Amino acid sequence: MTGKPDLLMIGSVTDRMMARLTAEFTVHPLFDQPDEARFLADHGAAISAVLTNGHDGLRPDLMAALPNLKIVSSYGVGYDAIDATAAAERGIVVTHTPNVLNDEVANTALLLWFAVSRRLVPNDAYVRAGRWENEGNTPLTHSVQSRMVGIVGLGRIGQAIADRLAVFDSTVLYHARSPKNVSYRYYANLTEMAADSDVLICITPGGPETKHLINKPVIDALGPDGILVNVSRGSVVDETAMVEALKDGRLGGAGLDVFDQEPRVPADLLAMDNVVLQPHVGSATHETRQAMGDLTCDNLSQWLKDGTTVTPVPECQTL
Ligand code: NDP
Repeated sequence: MTGKPDLLMIGSVTDRMMARLTAEFTVHPLFDQPDEARFLADHGAAISAVLTNGHDGLRPDLMAALPNLKIVSSYGVGYDAIDATAAAERGIVVTHTPNVLNDEVANTALLLWFAVSRRLVPNDAYVRAGRWENEGNTPLTHSVQSRMVGIVGLGRIGQAIADRLAVFDSTVLYHARSPKNVSYRYYANLTEMAADSDVLICITPGGPETKHLINKPVIDALGPDGILVNVSRGSVVDETAMVEALKDGRLGGAGLDVFDQEPRVPADLLAMDNVVLQPHVGSATHETRQAMGDLTCDNLSQWLKDGTTVTPVPECQTL
């Protein structure tokens, strides 16, 4: 008996996080349990805290098996894999890591767009294959300067993307549920915005409300010269419609950090040289993951100290 509260850890954490967690909690890594049902029967009632992440979330049946759960600290900003409304109804506070990853994810979005637009990956392959020497220069690409850029979701990260676009003399357009107090042009109709955009950058939350927000009409409006960048969640884009449009040449290219069934990626995409594919690494740098990890642990430490948290999700802010 250590006297420390019991924490269920879902997914993996950094060594730095683990050192902090074990100093304050008795940590039970879920994925190490050979028999989850047995583990829950033996320890479920003792668990007061869960640490998880945006990908693994917290399954409803797992939350139900933890009758004395008080806090869920998620190592990420997107929490669509956690039912925060159900948690709030049970008095469980859910926390996440807003703001500390804005710059990194914004940089990733631009990196993807630039890579697609300037054909960075195929050009790199061309040089490595010795083709430059034998076959000469590659075809011209399209500039990233002075473009019409539509941001889908002008929240914390969307604004960080817009801030960067000033350097590239972009005209920033945006779509969200409501207009913001900004000078960019707001579109209530996403298809109309796509028609006016050279590039569409998707950075909304995931979940049922935004499922297939980027659908066939939006993709067709973006058109054969348009580029779609998705750094939000795979569910936000109708992936089948996007793949068909890329195959038919109805969409110019795509830069994708997230996928509907990740880590599975549609085979058709793997064969295309006008797409750039990343394994959900929008925030995955040492520096940003450290800041996210610190905030994830700060939420737990502060809750232990006085029952409050640093960054509760909106659904849990009145608890
Ligand atoms: P915010 O909550 O600050 O911003 C979300 C924006 O999306 C708001 O502008 C909101 O509009 C808009 N939005 C929400 N629902 C809809 C809808 N149904 N239709 C249109 N717009 C909508 O979130 P963050 O900027 O902090 O993060 C955004 C998301 O980015 C995360 O939830 C996560 O899914 C993703 N992400 C991905 C990462 C990666 O590794 N690829 C890393 C980090 C985050 P309004 O204000 O009008 O409600």
